[in-house]
Amino acid sequence: AGKSGAQVIVEADADMIAQYRRRRKVEIAVARAIREKGFLVYYQPVYSLKERQIVSLEALVRLKDPELGFIPPEEFIPLAERDGNIIHIGEQVLEQCCRFLSKHVLSNGSLGIRTIHVNISMVQCLRQNLTETIRPVLESYHIPPSMLTLEVTERTAIGAPERMLWHMHELGKMGVSFALDDYGSGNANCSYLIHFPFQEIKIDKEIVWASFHDKAARIVLENEIHTIKQLGIPLIIEGIEEREQSEAMEQLGVECIQGYYYGRPLPEQECLRYIRTFQEK
Ligand code: C2E
Ligand code: CA
Ligand code: CA
Ligand code: CA
Repeated sequence: AGKSGAQVIVEADADMIAQYRRRRKVEIAVARAIREKGFLVYYQPVYSLKERQIVSLEALVRLKDPELGFIPPEEFIPLAERDGNIIHIGEQVLEQCCRFLSKHVLSNGSLGIRTIHVNISMVQCLRQNLTETIRPVLESYHIPPSMLTLEVTERTAIGAPERMLWHMHELGKMGVSFALDDYGSGNANCSYLIHFPFQEIKIDKEIVWASFHDKAARIVLENEIHTIKQLGIPLIIEGIEEREQSEAMEQLGVECIQGYYYGRPLPEQECLRYIRTFQEK
């Protein structure tokens, strides 16, 4: 209020300049982390309500810059997708995951962990031969391909359906699985679950959160769960932060949960400690 038109324009410009500067800094931080292999991978538990234990982990990339501190993946991944750097990030994440698995999970009677989930971006699907990128890494760490699940979003599946099917076929022959991530967040409808042979579906946390206070959202969620169960596809619910929420999901027949209530994303050593303590309970 009380601002002149010129003043508003000047402030908008200053905003754009600040945003632009931040973006440049983030791009530089990403480039540096690629050169120096500076990305960290955190691991978040996936909990089975049926087995009452942690059964898998999702690998989530982290970038800590000396000047900017932790930069959220939601900020740097889209930038890395634009300039293609996501390819290098993806390779470093997979390498770290495999090293982690071979060093700590396979050699430790598995700790109950059967699979690791790794996120794959649309750009990787479009530009890479995923089989040729992934196979040598699995082999060099002696990781059974059946331990790997690749997570792709609806956007990727719809944006590049032929590519996606080809990757799923080629990697599927090796034993690698695919999960559809963020289900229900976009404009996909369930009919395309028929066209892509996903081994797992992860329901987006926004709709899960909405379902706790909005009746319409709850009906939509219940229907999604019902449909996916009818199709016989295993399902993971994301974003569960409280016991009551977990119980509500259990009532709906959900079997697997990923959320802060059962464990936050943690760095390697902390995650291992967490899993050990948790599984013993
Ligand atoms: P996503 O694949 O949907 O991953 C789940 C996100 O939800 C993670 O955020 C996780 O920390 C968060 N989350 C899980 N449970 C809860 C909960 O109970 N409460 C709340 N508030 N949040 C929860 P994060 O780690 O910030 O990752 C954000 C997104 O960045 C991921 O969403 C994924 O799309 C992308 N991403 C992360 N790592 C990678 C990667 O290695 N490669 C690619 N291509 N994308 C990645
Ligand atoms: Ca994911
Ligand atoms: Ca997700
Ligand atoms: Ca997401």
